[in-house]
Amino acid sequence: MPSATRGGIEQLAELVRAADSVVALTGAGISVPSGIPDFRSPGTGLWENVDPMEVAHIDAWRRDPKRFWSFYGARFTMLGDKEPNDAHRALVTLERAGRLDAVVTQNIDRLHRRAGSADVVEVHGSVERSVCLSCPGEQTLEATLERLHADPDGIPRCDCGAPLKPGVVLFGEWLPEGALERAHQLAASADLLLCIGSSLEVQPVAQLPSVTRMNGGQVAILTQGPTPYDRRVAVKRSGDVVSELRALLDALGL
Ligand code: ZN
Repeated sequence: MPSATRGGIEQLAELVRAADSVVALTGAGISVPSGIPDFRSPGTGLWENVDPMEVAHIDAWRRDPKRFWSFYGARFTMLGDKEPNDAHRALVTLERAGRLDAVVTQNIDRLHRRAGSADVVEVHGSVERSVCLSCPGEQTLEATLERLHADPDGIPRCDCGAPLKPGVVLFGEWLPEGALERAHQLAASADLLLCIGSSLEVQPVAQLPSVTRMNGGQVAILTQGPTPYDRRVAVKRSGDVVSELRALLDALGL
């Protein structure tokens, strides 16, 4: 299916200007310019030779933390080295100019926070911290990797001795309730939901554009490739996210 384009950047800028509340909803596409592949893109995925449902499942972590971390350790090391890009920074500019209330993201890469966004809702968790399920202990990404490398079995451990679990939502785990509720509230109260780099196919974010529209808000999409909402939104742009957001800032005089 060819990816549709609706509306221009000037029209998007007008929607932003007219809105009291703008909320951004971001997916893997905003981090691709930082060198983080979208795992669902053929040929570029991190999941190429493994079944994510098997490797990244809470049962796999429980059953065999050594095997789990031998896979996740490499992924964490890769993510730990990545830097925010101009698309992340454009959202910081919008937020600081009072044009953006919050960022809701599916991404676990912590790049919105590192770029400087103040209000970030991470519905799939983040690699920023690892947690212990046996005690309240938690560790930063950096400390987790240090412990992983120091452990003879390659398992990063809590001070209590139990294996750490990444602070991301694994398959078979519930999504964080507080983050979900906040994302829903933000979508419901947004005059404009600005969806960036998300195919809007994965729950829970897939339903958020409908939540905004049912509450009288508008939806704009900056995503390469089709989404289920393309024909029903005010603006859909399919260009590179960095160029699109730069053009939006220009149009807003920011
Ligand atoms: Zn512990």
